[in-house]
Amino acid sequence: MALQKVLDLLSCPVCRKKVAYDQEGMQILCQACDERYPVKNGVPVMFTGEDGRDVKDLLQSPQGMEMIREFKKNGLLFKALNLGKRFVSSNLVLFDGKRLLEELIREKGENRRVLEIGAGNRRLNPDVINLDIEHFENTDVIGDARRLPFLDESFDLVWIEVVLEHVRRPQEAVAEIHRVLKPGGHVFSVVPFIHPYHSYPGDYSRFSLEGLEDLFSRFTRKKSGVYRGPSAALVNFLSDYFSLFSFSTDRRIYLLLKAMALCFLFPLKLLDRILVRNPRAHELAHCLFFLGKKESG
Ligand SMILES: [Zn+2]
Repeated sequence: MALQKVLDLLSCPVCRKKVAYDQEGMQILCQACDERYPVKNGVPVMFTGEDGRDVKDLLQSPQGMEMIREFKKNGLLFKALNLGKRFVSSNLVLFDGKRLLEELIREKGENRRVLEIGAGNRRLNPDVINLDIEHFENTDVIGDARRLPFLDESFDLVWIEVVLEHVRRPQEAVAEIHRVLKPGGHVFSVVPFIHPYHSYPGDYSRFSLEGLEDLFSRFTRKKSGVYRGPSAALVNFLSDYFSLFSFSTDRRIYLLLKAMALCFLFPLKLLDRILVRNPRAHELAHCLFFLGKKESG
């Protein structure tokens, strides 16, 4: 996505005022507080000094470097492995997020603006503007979820999927989502509940259904519930548990043991098709979702 497309929406993360692109210096300039932000390979890097140092430290940790490697791999072998992972994995999504996204995009009309926070290397839809803390394949803006570099009321829809557990003080990110949404705008969030530790590049929290609804209490709840179910959680936990017996810090050995366990365990996840009907399914769910609306006024 061209820099031009996001420029109108960008704000200074320090003073929240509109910024301009300084063509000569090839940087983003805030005329209100005189802050400057670099543009690297066409992507604005919109961190405050402190947040930028924080993120840099995280990305340079062993977990951070592992995460970057994972998102930047796109060789044939990696793609083949990923295809295999689609079938031999604990992943079984019970809520059709793709359909919801398409419905919401249609409903918002032609001039809609959609933001995905923590998109990794994917682009959900050509309309979506991607924010992340590092430059991946489809990143449009680099910045911090707790200090979104966008003007108030810029977006019709904000998508944030399995990201809030990686944000210290997630309440701040949710307040920012509320700020950048237009009145009447929607937020869709997925968070893990019964899911093993995964450092991307940090892992700070888990959310129960009540906890998730409370986190988004400034929004009107439209829908919430189980995104991945108890069987997915069980398969994930058991395969991770099995991998602990490698006693190795080598991630390849851990992944090999996990894959071996998954080969036997993964069909269990299909039981979620039955369990999803149980109103108590959220009590052991792998992931939960929340769809909310920002009311006007
Ligand atoms: Zn400023």
